Amino acid sequence: LDVSDAPVPRLTVIGTGYLGATHAICMAVLGYEVLGVDVDPVKVEWLNSGRVPFFEPGLPELLAKALDSGRLRFTTNFAEAGDFGDVHFLCVGTPQQKGSDAADLRYVDSAVTELAGHLRRRTLVVGKSTVPVGTAARLTELVQRLAPAGTDVELAWNPEFLREGYAIDDTLRPDRLVFGTESAWAEERLRAAFAPVIARDTPVVVTDLSTAELVKVAANSFLATKISYINAMAEVCEATGADVTGLAEALSYDDRIGGRFLKPGLGFGGGCLPKDIRAFSHRAEELGVGQAVAFLREVDAINKRRRARTVDLVRELVGGNLAGARITALGAAFKPNSDDIRDAPALDVARTLHQAGAHVTVVDPAATENARRTFPELTYGSDALTAAAGADVVVLLTEWTQFREIDPHAMAAVVSHRRIVDGRHALNPAQWRAAGWEYRALGRP
Ligand code: NAD
Repeated sequence: LDVSDAPVPRLTVIGTGYLGATHAICMAVLGYEVLGVDVDPVKVEWLNSGRVPFFEPGLPELLAKALDSGRLRFTTNFAEAGDFGDVHFLCVGTPQQKGSDAADLRYVDSAVTELAGHLRRRTLVVGKSTVPVGTAARLTELVQRLAPAGTDVELAWNPEFLREGYAIDDTLRPDRLVFGTESAWAEERLRAAFAPVIARDTPVVVTDLSTAELVKVAANSFLATKISYINAMAEVCEATGADVTGLAEALSYDDRIGGRFLKPGLGFGGGCLPKDIRAFSHRAEELGVGQAVAFLREVDAINKRRRARTVDLVRELVGGNLAGARITALGAAFKPNSDDIRDAPALDVARTLHQAGAHVTVVDPAATENARRTFPELTYGSDALTAAAGADVVVLLTEWTQFREIDPHAMAAVVSHRRIVDGRHALNPAQWRAAGWEYRALGRP
């Protein structure tokens, strides 16, 4: 397909959270005219005035650049979006349903419903959200039924693989682009919408809608499985006195296995992996192929056991009873370089310790405000050393660089007892032990 002289499409990005705001900003910086659309007027006002409503390194600077270019603005108005866009990207949330493992598709459905009536010309609607396989086919029917008579609307799927903390780079230089399309026209429009990215020799996989939907959940299932695999080995190590960090290192040199996502520790969390593997299990069961992915239930169970085991290590260090113990929890975000606390292992552990009667003080460089809103019952500190004053146990839960670099001697001077649980294998045990600390970590003697 030759897209060199295809007209440059104008883009809308519907849903401007972590994924959508990043996508909208990056596309504007690449030279496209972009309109971001969200139902949250506060978010829209923030973005229009140059403030990013979440923590993402480099994004505030890039937003300023995009707004200065005059190519980016945000609105809550779907009529404007219908007028403006040639290609509409759906980036709304697909969280786990309450009381079920299934994905909650109400935001995707309402975004499509609100947009459809405002479409006036031949348009491509492109799903980027992570959805159960079969959703795109259903949305195709929905958007075509609701669009004004005679309006030619097609749907495509372009799953998103960005990682929070690296969102800009992952958007501008993705490992690959996946286009699930039903026509050559849709493929041409997508190629035009990603021309500068494709020009950087990014591999493009063009496939059907179902395959495109599945690529995303298959990728996340693989990554979750790799993490739970090494954490399952950590459980075995704990029973035998072996050291999972040595095991993981030795495995990592095998280039058939590789070291990435083979880091033992407290396990995965966040707004994607846990809910995506659960929704995939649920969807596979609906399709009658639940057995094919039954291992994902085990992956989830292994992951949850790491949280419980971390609480046990803290309890063991205080002699079996957490009631009244003073615990300093280093970390709240589900991973470093993020303020995202969705299904955060750190806060799960902190809350369990609190419920067992401990006095827990949580410190996080970016996620404190989000954590305080969701878990007001916990105490929050400003920095690690201040928060550790008088602590009976310090427990490292999110491997921020600031925490990796803590001087064990400086911290020893402020705590009541030199006891540390390293939930992320982020510290040097020899160094901490030399400074008089009792050091415990998952999967290590
Ligand atoms: P988010 O909660 O940060 O953002 C979702 C946004 O959609 C919110 O701003 C919300 O106000 C808005 N919204 C809800 N209903 C709307 C509607 N009807 N019209 C317009 N806007 C609406 O979620 P997120 O993390 O950006 O995730 C979005 C999707 O992308 C999910 O499916 C997620 O699984 C997927 N995804 C996320 C990441 C990530 O790292 N966050 C990576 C890849 C894929």
